[in-house]
Amino acid sequence: MIEVELANRQAVQYIVRRFNLRLKHKLGQNFLIRPDVVEAIARAAELDEGTPVMEIGPGIGTLTQALARTGAEVTAFEIDGSLERVLTHTMEPYPNVHIVYEDVLKADLPHILGNREWHAAANLPYYITTPILLYLIQSELPISLFVFMMQKEVADRIMADPGSKAYGALTIAVQYYCTVEKVMDISPTAFIPRPAVTSTVLKMRRREQPAVTVKDESLFFNLVKMGFGQRRKVFANAMKMGGIPADLAGQILEKAGVDGKRRGETFSMEEYGRLADAWYDLK
Ligand code: SAM
Repeated sequence: MIEVELANRQAVQYIVRRFNLRLKHKLGQNFLIRPDVVEAIARAAELDEGTPVMEIGPGIGTLTQALARTGAEVTAFEIDGSLERVLTHTMEPYPNVHIVYEDVLKADLPHILGNREWHAAANLPYYITTPILLYLIQSELPISLFVFMMQKEVADRIMADPGSKAYGALTIAVQYYCTVEKVMDISPTAFIPRPAVTSTVLKMRRREQPAVTVKDESLFFNLVKMGFGQRRKVFANAMKMGGIPADLAGQILEKAGVDGKRRGETFSMEEYGRLADAWYDLK
């Protein structure tokens, strides 16, 4: 089969007609039609000849093609088995692409990825962006770099500063494990069909060590949950609501040097770290 550019309006419209596709909104099927965007994602993913890269949701192969053209070894997970008849055609010129027709959240990733170091790239399905992102980042899977497109609103939450409206448990969950850099914003006109919102591509690199060193991670994430689960409450009250007796809460705050009259949404990751270690020491 001759190689055709997939990431443009004419090609996507042709494929949709030729294969009589009904795009599934519930699976987040919005296909990219901008060659510069798929190329920018592939560039940001830092791929060389033979680099193992996993893609989530190849769809009809628009981004997969850009990844494959770098010479990387692409393994793409697609939940919609009905796209196999399309991808068999569109990916025919690329022997370095392997498609697994499975839900990425249910696939046996430890077995499929093995011990090599992987990069990951995706135009993530919007209905399930956060679960996929958190699953891959919090897992022990050997993925060192993630270049993911998502709704701008989710990207803003990931990059938010303490005290801002967007700052939350998601900010800390991602920034604890990864450094985060914005690659670009993308308008809804870059897709067929057009989504309702602007998208953002983020580059997240796994840190060698988490952003803060704590004695017990579960205490750290417990405190984060208290702080953001009760956003309107001052932190001393949020701790009580979270089951920490008032006198112990007071001791933890004092030992950590953190003012319990502040709200948890104003605490930096480092302050949550100090609180977690104070709790650990006082337990
Ligand atoms: N990569 C293509 C592009 O950029 O044009 C398509 C991206 S589209 C936003 C998301 C794709 O993810 C769809 O093809 C959808 O079927 C697939 N998908 C949705 N949920 C999935 C899951 N849990 N596991 C794997 N693929 C999934």
